[in-house]
Amino acid sequence: MKTYPVTKNQDLTVDIIDLTHEGMGIAKVEGYPLFIENALPGETVEIHVLKVGNKFGFAKVKNFIKKSAHRVENADEKLIRTGIAPLAHLSYDQQLIFKQEQVANVMKKVAKMPEVPVLPTIGMTDPTGYRNKAQIPVRRVENQLQTGFYRKNSHDLVPIEHFYIQDPAIDAAIIQIRDILRRFHVKPYNEETNEGFLRHLIIRKGHYTDEMMVVFVTRKEKFFQVDQILAQITQALPNVVTVVQNINEDKTNVILGKQEKVLFGPGYITDQLLGKTYHISAKSFYQVNTLQAEKLYQTAYDFAQLSPEDIVIDAYSGIGTIGLSVADKVKHVYGMEVVEEAVQDAIANAKLNGFTNTTYVTGSAEKVMAQWVKEGIQPDVIFVDPPRKGLTPSFIEASCQMNPEKIVYVSCNPATMARDLVHFAQLGYTAQQVQPVDLFPMTSHVETVTLLSKLDSAEYVKIDISMNEFDVTKAEMKSTYSNIKQYVLENFGLKVSSLYISQVKKMCGLEVGENYNLSKKENNRVPTCPPHKVEAIMDAFKYFKLI
Ligand code: SAH
Repeated sequence: MKTYPVTKNQDLTVDIIDLTHEGMGIAKVEGYPLFIENALPGETVEIHVLKVGNKFGFAKVKNFIKKSAHRVENADEKLIRTGIAPLAHLSYDQQLIFKQEQVANVMKKVAKMPEVPVLPTIGMTDPTGYRNKAQIPVRRVENQLQTGFYRKNSHDLVPIEHFYIQDPAIDAAIIQIRDILRRFHVKPYNEETNEGFLRHLIIRKGHYTDEMMVVFVTRKEKFFQVDQILAQITQALPNVVTVVQNINEDKTNVILGKQEKVLFGPGYITDQLLGKTYHISAKSFYQVNTLQAEKLYQTAYDFAQLSPEDIVIDAYSGIGTIGLSVADKVKHVYGMEVVEEAVQDAIANAKLNGFTNTTYVTGSAEKVMAQWVKEGIQPDVIFVDPPRKGLTPSFIEASCQMNPEKIVYVSCNPATMARDLVHFAQLGYTAQQVQPVDLFPMTSHVETVTLLSKLDSAEYVKIDISMNEFDVTKAEMKSTYSNIKQYVLENFGLKVSSLYISQVKKMCGLEVGENYNLSKKENNRVPTCPPHKVEAIMDAFKYFKLI
């Protein structure tokens, strides 16, 4: 039997050396990692070992011997235990640094692009009470209908009234609705037996409008005493402008079912974002942190530097927020999105804001993109904002085939983003910089905006590469280019762009495949490779036996 340096139920004292990407403290005992909730780097703690696995184990803090200067005292343990706010015990400025490091880490290890700058995380002035949406399970606890959140890695409901990261008006609404539901003896759902009625309660609130939507996710359609319940809710909460019932009969972890019924109001709430107005339906995605979403999108636009003649694609468009925010600054916006209701919202939102230069299509991003390539749509800028799993290879290929000047990648998962950057780089689009934005304070999640442009010149020079010309030698050329870059970085500590490499290639009379045609646009400043970099690149050519 394999032995480990620790045993289950053992008590010992350890130093915390790091944080997992989920915010658990890491200690190592003879190289064996232990993950410890509510422990911070720099702390020395007495722990109790809970679980010993093959490669790592889990332990809990018994006693703090030395505390971190970055510890926030009196953080509510329930918030850590449920995973609602797993970083609540870490000071906010350190959370922002932690997130920047997370992103820098995947850029180094996954993308293998240590040279791409990862900027300091854009944070919030007040990092609490930011969520405009609550999505909480309803269960029976001690014979009473309860609202709260699951204990981490389980489906046991921990009753919670103050969620800390949610808009306090939403917290208050949940309590009011919970009490009304109790008075009407509404049956909470039982996951084990797939019995009972009410599974989840979802509340959305417009950040600027205060309008509220209530969604009841129920197991069956028949909603006893629904009229009386609605009357009481709308009386107690005058900001509730719409109530929706979503029916999910399946024994599943998936929260929403397919069938939906508007019980009251128009079925959507209205909110504002960067000065534009949006209708948001129950099934549509909408960023949960409005203030930070504005900063996220603003960063994306700053990176894109749009001009009035630009054609823009807003891929994974949701209700249209990214494209519609700039529709008045560009020639045309194309958006695609897989959720039909969200596309309907986007079409309505374009009208609502008076735009006639937008096209929204329902469908999977990869299929629609392939179709648009066939139709010959030629965007100048492509914004992508995929779900956590990131982009597919075929989507990336289609994007590059369209030959845009820039691609702006908005991501909620740095790891898949970093993976996708590798593929983009192989096709000639290199990452210039990454801006992390904190949309989820107190949690370990982070959003990023990455600017990709053709060739990685430091001055973002606009160079046109014709993909046809690129074809045959594309793969091998790129690999040579990245080998040269790596060689120069490792041996000379210098960053060199593909543009510089091609300039030196030309200098040496080497074939550059005529790929680097200067853009026809006027205001391009093309930097020339400085002499010390010429020398370094030539050395690499010799090393790779190109000359
Ligand atoms: N850009 C929007 C939405 C981003 S969230 C905003 O900022 O609000 C990602 C969106 O991608 C969701 O709306 C989701 O429904 C959609 N989506 C998920 N998989 C998709 C796919 N394969 N093709 C197109 N859209 C998809």
